[in-house]
Amino acid sequence: MAKVNPDFSETLKDYGAFDLTACYNCGTCTAVCTLSDEENSIPRKMVRYGVLGLEEEIQSSVDPWLCYYCGECSTSCPRQAGPGELMMSLRRYLTASYDWTGLSRRFYTSKIWEIAAIMLLSALILVLFLLFHGPMTTELTPQGGVQLNTFAPWKRIETGDWIMAGILSFFLLSNIFRMYRKIFHGPQKIRVPFRLFFTQLWELIFHFLTQWRFSKSTRTTRIGRKELKISPYWVSHWLLMSGYVLLFTMIVVFLEWFQTDIIHPWWHPQRLLGYYATFGLAFGLIFFVYGRIRRDQENNKHSHYTDWTFLVLLSGTVITGILVHIFRISGLPYATYYTYVLHLMILFPMLMIEVPFSKWSHLAYRPFAVYFNGVRNAALKIKK
Ligand code: SF4
Ligand code: SF4
Repeated sequence: MAKVNPDFSETLKDYGAFDLTACYNCGTCTAVCTLSDEENSIPRKMVRYGVLGLEEEIQSSVDPWLCYYCGECSTSCPRQAGPGELMMSLRRYLTASYDWTGLSRRFYTSKIWEIAAIMLLSALILVLFLLFHGPMTTELTPQGGVQLNTFAPWKRIETGDWIMAGILSFFLLSNIFRMYRKIFHGPQKIRVPFRLFFTQLWELIFHFLTQWRFSKSTRTTRIGRKELKISPYWVSHWLLMSGYVLLFTMIVVFLEWFQTDIIHPWWHPQRLLGYYATFGLAFGLIFFVYGRIRRDQENNKHSHYTDWTFLVLLSGTVITGILVHIFRISGLPYATYYTYVLHLMILFPMLMIEVPFSKWSHLAYRPFAVYFNGVRNAALKIKK
């Protein structure tokens, strides 16, 4: 028998949902949602599960991850029950339910926990720098640049990066495994031939690299005389994601090449890749901050405090990263050193909190959900 949590709609309010009891089950939201079909009533099914408190059914569903938050359902809802916002809140709730440490739930439901964790992780970086930094030399390189590697040797930083990447991978992968367990061993348990996990693997790779679900937005963009069906939401998401993945790869895998004291010409691949990553992050950032301030679209009208925490940390990381670059090539040693420490004091908590427990984890959960959904559909087809 299905387990029922009568307080579930109250619980969900902490994650950003409105009053689910406002829903009178008219079905308008499902009629306008392009994801809906005869077999799956999106998002109404999730609204009903939420009202009834069917937590296990929600946790075993991939529907919230398939939703690309176009907001059509919320605009059409006659009761302003916010079904689109409910799907967003369920993504936060699911992130917390996959996480075995309980930290994700803490960060999503308590500002104090989130701020304390950020301060603690920042302080850790400061202490590590106070203990292990190299000499602060004012002597410049022959090209007039700052000797950053004397103050912060890349080998030491790289060791720290590897430890951090190991911790992040452990948390994120173990949570993805729990997501798999909930989907395939939950109430709608289904036997899946093992080979399907290989044959459907392309969906995971494709959706991770393209973030394609966000391209479904119906908004159009004019380029010259042509009206193109390009979603600015998708473009911003993709630039942000590609900038982040590129930068993460360069600091974890290629730091010796990336953090150099040599000042390469502007067209050198090291600088071009760095500029591209910065551009991608800054573009996405400006788009999302501007949208959340204007609140002119359904998908940016309702911000949870964790949305702003993420944007503030990312802004701090991007701005200090740009300043380190400018100070380094301008030959300003102290400005470079202090800004570099500040940069890591913002970057480190952002990665440690957002990648396994909060907003960045959605970049992984969404493609995995599409992949698991593909595997499950393929298994169901075989059964028929
Ligand atoms: S449109 Fe609104 S009231 Fe109607 S089923 Fe959807 S959420 Fe409920
Ligand atoms: S926000 Fe858009 S994609 Fe998501 S459930 Fe509503 S109509 Fe469907």
